[in-house]
Amino acid sequence: MSEASPNDPIRKVCVIGAGTMGAGIAAQVANAGVPVLLLDIVRDPANRNAVAQGALDRLAKAEPAAFMSKRAAKLVEVGNIEDDLPRVAECDWVIEAIVERLDLKHALYEKLEGVRRPGTAVSSNTSTIPLEQLIAGRGEGFARDFLITHFFNPPRYMRLLEVVAGPASDAALVAKVSDFADRALGKTVVRAKDTPGFLANRVGTFWIQQAINAAIDLGLSVEEADAVVGKPMGVPKTGVFGLVDLVGIDLMPHLKASLTATLPEDDAYRAIAIDHPLIMKMIADGYTGRKGKGGFYRLN
Ligand code: NAD
Repeated sequence: MSEASPNDPIRKVCVIGAGTMGAGIAAQVANAGVPVLLLDIVRDPANRNAVAQGALDRLAKAEPAAFMSKRAAKLVEVGNIEDDLPRVAECDWVIEAIVERLDLKHALYEKLEGVRRPGTAVSSNTSTIPLEQLIAGRGEGFARDFLITHFFNPPRYMRLLEVVAGPASDAALVAKVSDFADRALGKTVVRAKDTPGFLANRVGTFWIQQAINAAIDLGLSVEEADAVVGKPMGVPKTGVFGLVDLVGIDLMPHLKASLTATLPEDDAYRAIAIDHPLIMKMIADGYTGRKGKGGFYRLN
C-alpha cells in the first residue's frame, strides 16, 4: 500500500465510534466541508449501519437547527467496522472515539494496522488513557503516526482541543492535524503532556466527582447541590450534574478506573466515589444521561 506523506492535505476523515463524541466530531468535520466516514459496530445484522446512523439521527433531533447543514449531511457516510474498516485507506486522518476501554482500543488498533495507509494520522479521543499505553504492542509505524486529539463535549460548541504527542510521534503529522483542527474546525489547540487525565480531565473530573460525592454524603438533591456548584461556580447552563448527563454517566467509572491505574497511591482522586453503588445502579438501569433514559436530571 502506498505511504501517505505528512504534506498531503486532510481530504477525508474516518471517525470510528459513533457515540456521544464520535457522531458530533463527524458532524463538525462535515460542516467544515470535509467528507467523513463514520463507523460503529454491527448491533442488528439486518441493518448493519444502524448504530452510526442512529447516533447521527439522535443528535440531529436534539439540535435540529445547529447540528449539521444539509450540504454537510451529504458529506457523511455511515458504515460499520465489520464491512467497512478497509475503507480507512481512503482517509487521511482516522479518529478513534470508541468506549474508554484500553482492551477494546488495542483490539481496534491491531485491526487498523492491517488496513490503513502508513503515514495516515491516527488519533484517539481518549479522556484519560496515556498515549504510551495506547500504542503499547503496536509497531514503530503506528507509534510514528499516532497522537491523542481530545475533543470536548459537545464538539460543536467546545473550542478546546487537547493534543498529546508521544516521543515517537511524527512532528509534521502532529502539526498537520493541529493545523486542520485550528483552521478547519475552529479549535484552540493546547499541547498537553502524556500525564494521567492530561490537563482538562485531571482538573475537571476531580471537580465533577467531588460535587457528586458531596451530594451523596450530605444527602442533597441534585437541584440543591447544583444551586451551589452549578451557576455560582461557572457552569450556568447545565449545572455540574447536567454536564455529567451530557458527558454520559457511564463514562465516569471508566475515567476513574483509568486514572486510578496511573495515579500515585496517595493521590486524592482515589477517594472519589464515582463508582458508588447508587451511580452503578443508575448505569445498570440505563440511566446514563442524555443518551440513555435520563440521568441526574429527567429528560423532558
Ligand atoms: P459512547 O459510549 O457514547 O460511544 C462509544 C461508541 O463506540 C458506541 O457507539 C459503541 O457502539 C462504539 N464502539 C464500541 N466499541 C467499538 C469498536 N470496537 N469499533 C467501533 N465502535 C465501537 O462513548 P463517548 O462518550 O462518545 O466516548 C468515546 C471516547 O471519547 C472515549 O474514549 C471517551 O473517554 C472520550 N471522550 C468522551 C467525552 C464525553 O463527554 N462523553 C468527552 C471527551 C472524550
